[in-house]
Amino acid sequence: MASQDGRLLIIHFGELWLRGKNRRSYIQALKRDISERIGSGFTLVDDYDRLIIKSLEGGNIDLITEPIRRTFGISAYEIARSTIPDLKSITRTSISMLKASGAMSVKINSHRSFKGFKFNSIDIIKSVAAAASKAGIEPSLEGHDTELFISVKEKEAFVYIGRMKGSGGLPAGTSGKCVVLMSGGIDSPVAAWYAMKRGLYPVYVHVHGFPSASEVRSSKIPKIIDVLSGFSKSHKLYLVPSHVFQLAAMKSRRYELVLMKAFMLRLAEKIAVLEGAGAIVTGESLGQVASQTLPNIAAEQHGIKLPILRPLIGMDKQEITDIARRIGTYGESIMPYKDVCSINARNPVTNSNLTEFNRIAKEIGLQGIVSRSVKAAEIEYSDRESDR
Ligand code: ATP
Ligand code: MG
Repeated sequence: MASQDGRLLIIHFGELWLRGKNRRSYIQALKRDISERIGSGFTLVDDYDRLIIKSLEGGNIDLITEPIRRTFGISAYEIARSTIPDLKSITRTSISMLKASGAMSVKINSHRSFKGFKFNSIDIIKSVAAAASKAGIEPSLEGHDTELFISVKEKEAFVYIGRMKGSGGLPAGTSGKCVVLMSGGIDSPVAAWYAMKRGLYPVYVHVHGFPSASEVRSSKIPKIIDVLSGFSKSHKLYLVPSHVFQLAAMKSRRYELVLMKAFMLRLAEKIAVLEGAGAIVTGESLGQVASQTLPNIAAEQHGIKLPILRPLIGMDKQEITDIARRIGTYGESIMPYKDVCSINARNPVTNSNLTEFNRIAKEIGLQGIVSRSVKAAEIEYSDRESDR
């Protein structure tokens, strides 16, 4: 079927090529994700080391560039025009695109995957360069403001200007599942984004201090998850009340914060087992707040068997904030919210003593608290999770 306005998207995988025997399944996963994002109105076809999306009747390429920009596994993409693979058509299309872009000077690149025509890449470059000069656009190898690419195939040629950077990473779900401890602050949504970037499906766990989960449902938490779902749609959200923990831990003021984190990690591990997830993800950054010193981290994770991924461990708050803005979670993250971690001790321990910590954890019956809290959790699904 003919492309609606001759425009199409060329998608590059980048890193996927490094993945030897897994390559096929990675590309399949990427294609599945892209197909779900673009819906009807487009066709997705293989083209050697890239994918091509063409619009059908009613499909508008402009409407899918944003979803494509957010798709992990895509290193770069171009919006190209398709034309007949002869010198005249290629030159005409090139000049019309250059004029529309407002180019003053241009570097012209040409590549032929089909070499059966009488003209070669040099002939193409010469033809386009001559026409560009005539149109007042200077062909130049250095100092140009625009770069034009021509890709010639047997049945059509693609012409495009510039290349858009994709989100990179690995296609959704190709690394399995993880449990993301999601606070609704600035950091954990960014950590979730990094986990998804490396091909993990997120199962979110949020611990709340409300009498019921309905208060969370109308809070910023689902909104943040909605933003994140633009990068990897499938998710599940566990809303876990904190009251079981808080009732038991009240006495241990100085260790309460550390116990709370230990509680969350144990909760995450239990849920990971239920969900078949292979890792726990947190938004911790070393030394950022009292609970994130090394002795405290050591105490909090004591006894946890699953890998705990902390994608932000070496980042400054400013770097994390910049990414939060870029991925679109920042605006919701700074909205007011009664976070369970904002309770707490005036003088929290920063140098946990493991023996002391273990003694208190045993005394309050941390393991039992975790089991009871998981039972009290309410679970929300995204529309796609239920069919997975
Ligand atoms: P964030 O910006 O993600 O809230 P933070 O800088 O406030 O992090 P902490 O309060 O120490 O730091 O939280 C560290 C991590 O613990 C968070 O990034 C998150 O992974 C997890 N966490 C904190 N609060 C909650 C919560 N209410 N529910 C689930 N996980 C939480
Ligand atoms: Mg926080």
